[in-house]
Amino acid sequence: MIKAVIFDIDNTLYDYDRANAAAMTAVENYAEAHFGWSRRETESLVKDSYEEMIQLSGRKAVIHNRLIRFQRILEQKSLPLSPHALRMYDIYWDTLTASSVLFPGLTDSLLALKEQRIRLGIGTNMTSVMQFRKLEALGLLPLFDFIVSSEEAGAEKPDISLFLLCCKKADCLPGECAYVGDNLKNDVIGAEEAGLKGIWFDPKKEPLSEDAPLPVDHLGTQKPAEGVIRFSEFGELPELIKTIR
Ligand SMILES: [Mg+2]
Repeated sequence: MIKAVIFDIDNTLYDYDRANAAAMTAVENYAEAHFGWSRRETESLVKDSYEEMIQLSGRKAVIHNRLIRFQRILEQKSLPLSPHALRMYDIYWDTLTASSVLFPGLTDSLLALKEQRIRLGIGTNMTSVMQFRKLEALGLLPLFDFIVSSEEAGAEKPDISLFLLCCKKADCLPGECAYVGDNLKNDVIGAEEAGLKGIWFDPKKEPLSEDAPLPVDHLGTQKPAEGVIRFSEFGELPELIKTIR
């Protein structure tokens, strides 16, 4: 019987891809106005900076820190850090937060789970402060009993230590916890390897047969999903949780 349900945030609670596109456009507009960079150039610089952070730091939460990314880009271009680094950081996050839209039915689904006396948690690959800001802006923070970020856990999903810290905070055995996320490798398979019940949020209803392999997502994951528990609309989740033994 499931006693706790733990959620990924980005592309699980809200449409990250849409919000990120709006936020990147805002940063690109800033860079074009102040540095004369084309949109493609800014996009490429930000992507390269992310890859450099992975090389420098390994897969730790710091790789998600966009202030460091913008700082490093400005340093490489011999441009002044003041005021641009913090301005680009604030423009990105303010736009992303303002552009974030919850997936339909999410709040009612969380409330229904709470009525089933299920504890609700967050398990996320990210620095804590921005995930708190997102949850607060989306009005979701009061609904969750606990949060685990990869910054806090010291490891990124799919490392099992992040999932096990979630179970500890839920005061449940891994087998009593379900983990809901959009990413098969990081969320679903990672949770299963830690002993939780992995549930795939798949709003696009991706094909599963080997003849139609899954598209590569924004994290580069490509994995067939035979036998994975999945749902595509949040209205389905409370009943789905009841069926898991
Ligand atoms: Mg996600």
